[in-house]
Amino acid sequence: MKPRLIINGAAGRMGRRIAALAVEAGRFDIIAAVDSADHPDIGADAGVLARVDKLGIELGTDLPKKADCLIDFSLPQAADGVIEHCRSCGIALVMGTTGLSDDQVAKIARAAEKIPVIRASNFSVGMNVLFSLVGSVAGRLGDQYDIEVVEAHHRFKKDSPSGTALTLAENIARETGWDFPACLVHGRSGKNALRQKGTIGMHSVRAGDITGEHSVIFSTLGETLTLAHSAHSRDNFARGALRAAEWIIGKTPGAYSMADVLGI
Ligand code: NAD
Repeated sequence: MKPRLIINGAAGRMGRRIAALAVEAGRFDIIAAVDSADHPDIGADAGVLARVDKLGIELGTDLPKKADCLIDFSLPQAADGVIEHCRSCGIALVMGTTGLSDDQVAKIARAAEKIPVIRASNFSVGMNVLFSLVGSVAGRLGDQYDIEVVEAHHRFKKDSPSGTALTLAENIARETGWDFPACLVHGRSGKNALRQKGTIGMHSVRAGDITGEHSVIFSTLGETLTLAHSAHSRDNFARGALRAAEWIIGKTPGAYSMADVLGI
């Protein structure tokens, strides 16, 4: 039997691609496509919305009680309900929504005592390899290198800096021993904005339809090393989320990461 999948935020940019790629993969049974009650496409066929064949599933507002996995790429205001639904119904959760509050992150940790959960700020394979690299690069270069994270996204992105940029900085801070998030300096302006040691500069560009660009700049007197990642489309995130969903079904309760999924 194919894994039964709920897609929450199904009418969104990510939700539509997840639905389309799940259909294309042929290994999932999409049992519900859910979005907020005020979405104008409620009632439309989820397959048509995702620009694949008609699925016979209407975009709805109710999360079914029985499913193998719920993939959520919606908005933080939906997260409390989604986490509680998965916890109480025993549904594995793949959480892609970014900009969650500390309280919501703590709720996910508590839910992971009962269900398997993967929360990732970025589901792309390349970025997860970068996550695993940035800390060791910072450690090897040492404290004479200034570190700045620059990210660029489309004009519709609500949260800033991106969850991915924060994860990059967090992995660096873990290695350098800097206090995260206190070590972050968001943008820089004013007459007294001299760079301080032991800080990570965070810079967000919001323009046009940029899918997602992240650079980590390590620079000292005389040289700069830049590690950069570009997402060409949303499909790499959607494929990663579907890979995570297939991997997590049947796992014992716990908080897993994309590194676990990828074995890195
Ligand atoms: P989007 O605005 O296009 O889609 C969000 C969808 O969620 C919309 O259709 C909206 O109506 C719906 N929604 C809002 N409230 C809801 C509710 N209460 N219940 C159900 N649905 C609700 O945004 P997007 O570009 O698809 O991104 C969605 C989220 O995924 C954002 O937080 C974004 O930062 C994140 N994201 C994460 C990754 C990753 O790899 N982790 C990659 C891309 C985007």
